[in-house]
Amino acid sequence: MIYPWQADDWNRLQQLRGHWPHALLLHGQAGIGKLRFAQHLAQGLLCEAQQANGEPCGACVACNWFTQGNHPDYRIIVPEALAAEAGLGNAAEEKAEKADGDEGKKTRTPSKEIKIEQIRGLLDFVGVGSHRGGARVVVLYPAEGLNIAAANALLKTLEEPPAGVVFLMVSARVDRLLPTIISRCRQWPMTMPAPDVATKWLAAQGVAEAPA
Ligand SMILES: [Zn+2]
Repeated sequence: MIYPWQADDWNRLQQLRGHWPHALLLHGQAGIGKLRFAQHLAQGLLCEAQQANGEPCGACVACNWFTQGNHPDYRIIVPEALAAEAGLGNAAEEKAEKADGDEGKKTRTPSKEIKIEQIRGLLDFVGVGSHRGGARVVVLYPAEGLNIAAANALLKTLEEPPAGVVFLMVSARVDRLLPTIISRCRQWPMTMPAPDVATKWLAAQGVAEAPA
């Protein structure tokens, strides 16, 4: 589900279907639900029984894989620190890492950057064809987490993306992105919730007062 204030972004984005940009840069203030929106968009692109407005059906095999974090044509790239914290990332990869069982890892501070190793892994993924014959979708969050080496490694692919690959880059700090990255993305400023909408939504969630 997306947040109520994102409905307009969603509907306007659906007008791009048919000539979907290969890289979309969803940006806006921190805390407005950009990542959730990107993930929902990704699910909509991968869903095999998409509804008329681009909404994922929530019931097909693709949607099931997606919600379990197992869709073979989907990758989410986040810094290690976030993956550990929020349980983001690819379930299959996490299992493999656990199976490795390297004890030494626990004491190391997880990185807050998206590293070149992650991008290399991603390039392997975009280099192979689609498993389901549809789109392949990559969510990158936060895009400003890309360190210089990682950003440079990604550039070439953003310049000449393989057919059917869609990058959804999410950023709260466009000013920290390399201009060369920005110029290869279609920029999409995300709508801020109006104060009354935000208050109403928070109330519905059982939050009496908006946090200061
Ligand atoms: Zn579906």
